[in-house]
Amino acid sequence: MEERMQNLAERLDLIPPSPTLALDAKAKALKAAGRDIINFGIGEPDFDTPAHIGEAAIKAIKDGFTRYTPADGALELKEAICEKFRRDNGLEYKPSQIVVSNGGKHSLYNTCLGLFQPGDEVILPTPCWISYAPMLTLAGAAAVTVKTNAANGYTITAEDLERAITPKTRGIFINSPSNPTGMAYGADRLKELASVILKHKLWVVTDDIYEKILFDGAKFQNLPMVEPALYDQTVIAHGHSKTYAMTGWRLGFIAGPEKLARGVANIQSQTTSNPCSISQKAGLAALTGPQDSVAEMAASFQRRRDLIIGLLAEIPGVTCPVPQGAFYVFPDVSAYYGKKNGEAVINTSDEMAAYLLETAEAAIVPGSGFGDDRNLRLSYAVSDDDIKRGLGRVKEALLALK
Ligand code: PLP
Repeated sequence: MEERMQNLAERLDLIPPSPTLALDAKAKALKAAGRDIINFGIGEPDFDTPAHIGEAAIKAIKDGFTRYTPADGALELKEAICEKFRRDNGLEYKPSQIVVSNGGKHSLYNTCLGLFQPGDEVILPTPCWISYAPMLTLAGAAAVTVKTNAANGYTITAEDLERAITPKTRGIFINSPSNPTGMAYGADRLKELASVILKHKLWVVTDDIYEKILFDGAKFQNLPMVEPALYDQTVIAHGHSKTYAMTGWRLGFIAGPEKLARGVANIQSQTTSNPCSISQKAGLAALTGPQDSVAEMAASFQRRRDLIIGLLAEIPGVTCPVPQGAFYVFPDVSAYYGKKNGEAVINTSDEMAAYLLETAEAAIVPGSGFGDDRNLRLSYAVSDDDIKRGLGRVKEALLALK
């Protein structure tokens, strides 16, 4: 590691860059240099933002809705978010319990600042999204990882949770459907967890950003939906990025206890002020307008899930449970560890991802950052043709290892 300049803060040494964004940058650079890179790296829908949402933004500009709004979001958008929770989740929130931020990432970070502090432990069932641990670190809290596995659908069990709890435990993150595994929690598993969470009075941070990308007719569930007693100790983190193909607009929101929402609003008022006023108008149109595109995108992801799962199954030694949502697969490729590419032995997911980028020209995120080094994460928010060509090349590259 580079020696830290004397006058920089120590926290800079604690936060690595996001490996997914780093991989995306590398893939784009190789592509720009003329290489035929297929990018399975980045977690964003490959659809355009639906037209009526864009039009609402253009209207916002024309109408001069270009000034500061309240730091925690315009009232009309917060009301629409309350309506979303009522309609989709049967949960009642008041606008004073909602904070709109600059993307789901910002919402989750501010939630960490609002809930956790030095001395606190927070449980992360892993594999999990890369950014939770650094956010907790910035809040001064310790991330405690609890391994889940493919056999239990990559969900944490009540026994695993009970075993991980110490007197310092303050909270748990649940992300369903999950990035990176695509697995989702069912009501039974959530109910089991709820009783442990209630007993130990833990905060629940439920990251519902992939709520609308669920397959095979599954019904979305989160902890406060299955156990209403958890309502007062739950923060729902959500956003527009994945549901409405709005990654660049930067809109996220939380719903939770009013006191927390006020605190987070104060943090925003002192640090970032409001999320972009134009994006807020677009986000309002997204929530209140036609929802057909949401179902269409989910159906398209389900079709591509089937395609990629079928192709993975044709690679000897690779195993992968069938995801129930989101747009990721998390295959276990460890059967190929210990094999050689020329003289170099591949022993880790980082080495495997580097090999596949070079040899198969496929940009794939190593599982290490998500908490499982046996796996790779592929986003299948790419065209059918890229999935077919990319998986063909990956298979060839894996079989070439000796
Ligand atoms: N939560 C999870 C699990 C994610 O995968 C992402 C994005 O990749 C986010 C939250 C944040 O998304 P955004 O900041 O674009 O709203």
